[in-house]
Amino acid sequence: MVKAEGVHKSYGAAHILRGIDLEVQNGEVFCLVGPSGSGKSTFLRCINHLERIDGGRLSVDGELVGYRQKGDKLYELKDSEVAVQRRDIGMVFQRFNLFPHMTALANVMEAPIQVKGESKAVARERAERLLDRVGLRDKMGNYPSQLSGGQQQRVAIARALAMEPKLMLFDEPTSALDPELVGDVLDVMRDLAESGMTMIVVTHEMGFAREVGDSLVFMDGGVVVESGNPRDVLTNPQHDRTKAFLSKVL
Ligand code: ATP
Ligand code: MG
Repeated sequence: MVKAEGVHKSYGAAHILRGIDLEVQNGEVFCLVGPSGSGKSTFLRCINHLERIDGGRLSVDGELVGYRQKGDKLYELKDSEVAVQRRDIGMVFQRFNLFPHMTALANVMEAPIQVKGESKAVARERAERLLDRVGLRDKMGNYPSQLSGGQQQRVAIARALAMEPKLMLFDEPTSALDPELVGDVLDVMRDLAESGMTMIVVTHEMGFAREVGDSLVFMDGGVVVESGNPRDVLTNPQHDRTKAFLSKVL
């Protein structure tokens, strides 16, 4: 589903991603861990072309992200074409960024109506089903300010799912939450994983990675240091950098 080959990204003189190689299979829960500043968020942002890569190749579902290839040459896609690629990729951030002036239900209905031109009735039916699925059946009429952080984050997940994405990116979705609210959000993600969704999850929740993850990649300094089955990497890390990191988070 996602293939990165030698992906590089710099911000000015700062060389952040230094040749990322990895492959995410269909239906896989792919966990990305690593120290602060190692480039995890940058890499996620490259996957939906919020950042443009400077070298290498990055594709989603067989299509180059942000580019079209003709012969040996790459041509940058137009904004409208990038927008079409992005429709299929849901993203959930650390901070929930819901629309504050809209109810939970309206937040979830918004994108399908605005982006896909869907009718209100169809969008509402799906939004109700999704909010029910994330355990918020009785909070649909609440505004974000009337929801806990964990509830807001579950609305954010429902909102991303409303576009019926083929890939979901999670960037530390629980790290801004009070500890007692983390479990409900992880439960929703576990449920989503069981439904077969392809997910890339940046997280410090090693329990989640171990139980739900199919693969785990440890990134440091803009490269993949170590990868494999989460249980193997977490219980028997091979590299000193992985060991040092895990000793801090486990
Ligand atoms: P964290 O665990 O703290 O979220 P991360 O692994 O997600 O860290 P990134 O956010 O990808 O790290 O940042 C990697 C590096 O790139 C950092 O040194 C950061 O300062 C730098 N960086 C990120 N975004 C930009 C930007 N827009 N302009 C300049 N530098 C940036
Ligand atoms: Mg980050």
